[in-house]
Amino acid sequence: MALVKCPECGKDVSTTAKKCPHCGFVPPMNDVAWNCPEWPTPPPAGMSEAEWQRRLAVATAEETRREWDTIKTWLAIIVFIFLASFIAYISGCDTENQ
Ligand SMILES: [Zn+2]
Repeated sequence: MALVKCPECGKDVSTTAKKCPHCGFVPPMNDVAWNCPEWPTPPPAGMSEAEWQRRLAVATAEETRREWDTIKTWLAIIVFIFLASFIAYISGCDTENQ
């Protein structure tokens, strides 16, 4: 049976436990909850806690950067469409007035 870190108290908890024996924390979704990817994952065998935390931080930063890239791309598209519509509107007014 595997051990995971309790997200509340940080102590080791069996993945088969229904709640944390140290602080009584109950996973929001029983059974699979202890393996929720959003929770801190214990380091793989042979890797130090510090090294694992560093890799997690790098992975999280990378994920955040990709999300921002997506947001910026969509913002650019929206601004472009807005500008194109605005220019087309201005041009249309000019043509009608002449
Ligand atoms: Zn706990």
